[in-house]
Amino acid sequence: MKKVLTIAGFDPSGGAGIQQDLKVFHLFGVYGLSAVAALTAQNSSGVAAVKAVDRHFLGKQIEVLLRDSVPDATKVGMLLSADNVLEIAAILKKFRLKNIVLDPVVKSSSGRMLVEAGVPELIRERIFPYCTIITPNIHEASVLSGVKIATDVDVAKAAIILKGFGPEQVIITGGHRTGRAVDILYDGTFSYLRGKRVPGEYHGTGCAFSSALASLLALGFDVPTAARNAKRFMARSFRRSFSTGNGMRLFSF
Ligand code: PLP
Repeated sequence: MKKVLTIAGFDPSGGAGIQQDLKVFHLFGVYGLSAVAALTAQNSSGVAAVKAVDRHFLGKQIEVLLRDSVPDATKVGMLLSADNVLEIAAILKKFRLKNIVLDPVVKSSSGRMLVEAGVPELIRERIFPYCTIITPNIHEASVLSGVKIATDVDVAKAAIILKGFGPEQVIITGGHRTGRAVDILYDGTFSYLRGKRVPGEYHGTGCAFSSALASLLALGFDVPTAARNAKRFMARSFRRSFSTGNGMRLFSF
């Protein structure tokens, strides 16, 4: 049985974070392990409150798990505090985990910051060097690279800058751009994953994509193949979604 660990935020709505990651792992037939870095109070309309798990307890969750089994891939999602980041960096260094997928979460679609001040820069310095692939959306890529993104050339520029901080590969997802939803994959050369833009607001898109990618890496696919299949999985997931009648659409898979 292949195992995938998610280190991320707790979303009571089940639409993002750890709760959703575990659903995606199950769909891909891999066994899900999880460690919570931050708690949130939220529903499909937005995030009302966030709270970081303290450094010692975050580390304890993972160390206890790793004593028992070694994941075939690890997905890192919402890291709220500097302590969250420093602890995960220490864990990644100590245990030399493989197939690390980082979704560098900055802000929720509803507009709430999911990182404290200074944390994106710290993630870039301390976590990026351990990553097999990072999966920023356009907004995250812009914040983390310092490039104001308007054109395809800007996206390429941002990808080059982000790879310079140490991840093996960068995929900048294009779903939040106007026009076609093209993802740009950069590993030293560029490739483009084309898709149709889906209308509407969805909760948990970045979490689902990065979890699918981590599952596929655990199953032995190389990054370009995993990325293409994760994108296909998302296209299907947009069709399998519903609304509570209040906020964003939730994936029902
Ligand atoms: N809550 C948690 C725990 C998350 O990890 C994320 C995104 O990564 C969100 C909320 C935001 O999800 P979205 O922007 O898709 O609404």
